[in-house]
Amino acid sequence: MDETLLMIPGPTRVAQRVLKAMSENIVNHRSALFGKILSETSEMMSDVFRTNNKSYLLTGSGTAAMEAAIANIIEPGDKVLNVVGGKFGQRFSQIVEAFGGESIRIDVEWGKAVNPDEIGYALEENDDIKAVTVVHNETSTGVANPIKEIGKIMSDYDALYVVDTVSSLGGDEVDVDGYGIDICVTGSQKCLAAPPGMAAITLSDDAWSAVEGVSNPRTYYLNLKKYRKSGDAEPPETPYTPAVSLIYAMHEALKVIMEEGLNNRIKRHKLAAEATRNAIKALGLELFPDESVSSTTVTAVRLPEGVTDGELRDTMRNKYHVELAGGQDHLKGKIFRIGHMGNITHRELITTISGLEMTLRELGFEVEMGEAVAAVADTYLPENL
Ligand SMILES: *Cc1c(COP(=O)(O)O)cnc(C)c1O
Repeated sequence: MDETLLMIPGPTRVAQRVLKAMSENIVNHRSALFGKILSETSEMMSDVFRTNNKSYLLTGSGTAAMEAAIANIIEPGDKVLNVVGGKFGQRFSQIVEAFGGESIRIDVEWGKAVNPDEIGYALEENDDIKAVTVVHNETSTGVANPIKEIGKIMSDYDALYVVDTVSSLGGDEVDVDGYGIDICVTGSQKCLAAPPGMAAITLSDDAWSAVEGVSNPRTYYLNLKKYRKSGDAEPPETPYTPAVSLIYAMHEALKVIMEEGLNNRIKRHKLAAEATRNAIKALGLELFPDESVSSTTVTAVRLPEGVTDGELRDTMRNKYHVELAGGQDHLKGKIFRIGHMGNITHRELITTISGLEMTLRELGFEVEMGEAVAAVADTYLPENL
């Protein structure tokens, strides 16, 4: 199999022991044996979310959990405030509209973080807003939004606080209960380093009250009341046949996280982000977002003059066997993105940055060979930690 190093913001490389777990044979998904795996997985999921509430695993990618979050709490005409500063913020707004809700947008320039006060102003103006959606880590722009500070503002209002942590959970600080998040969603294939195809969601008591208030949700498969009922059964189950093998994988991937320790893992991600930014600066390239709001899990970089996205990423892939991501929408051809989420250490970063030096040099961009690699190494030197 192709051993290209995945340095994209998901899917991320999966550990051997997680792949192995997935190759275990299928069991009855309505058995005590599977119920134990399911409940352990959901308990570890809640630990990673840092919540005392239950977590539910959904078969589907991260977007399925985003859709579940909205579809279960709104009825046609309900107002939802969507913070839109990139592709995924936009997605929440589109989901609201798909379910007949009214999306009120706070548009944030792509590459900037939202100012939490703006959310307060919008909630003052519209006292009938049912929920506010925020994307913690806007993967499309490499920006981390201040979900803790937003949580403080949200605590003055009744609107539900809905947060997408698909590309941050397990890699950056997320404290669902501590920040007052009512609905938090994530996906398997980013910082959790499990294969794609699973999503998870957790809801506060207030969120469940809102779910109960929607008598006729416009979703069948993602009806969360059914997930709660099955999840509370003995042994716990899912309402429909789950992706059994993917649950095995999630179970093992979450065990890996518990063994590393969530705080250690977050520290490792922060270090990888810092090393990447240091390398980019050493190369003389420009970070796309301001460093103060830069993501801990993906770094977005402006393409230098005279180097095209196609040339850069093709050379990296074909010659140096490193896969990078391009820009999305209007950022296509303007930025490239380096994912450093999941099981990334200095080893992968040294390889990536060294390949990037060679690639840029080959494409005519002036590079002092070795300087960016040294910037990565320096970041990891014990005296600089
Ligand atoms: C990847 C991602 C998603 C979900 O995308 P899927 O392709 O459905 O898994 C949602 N939000 C953010 C911020 C993401 O990075």
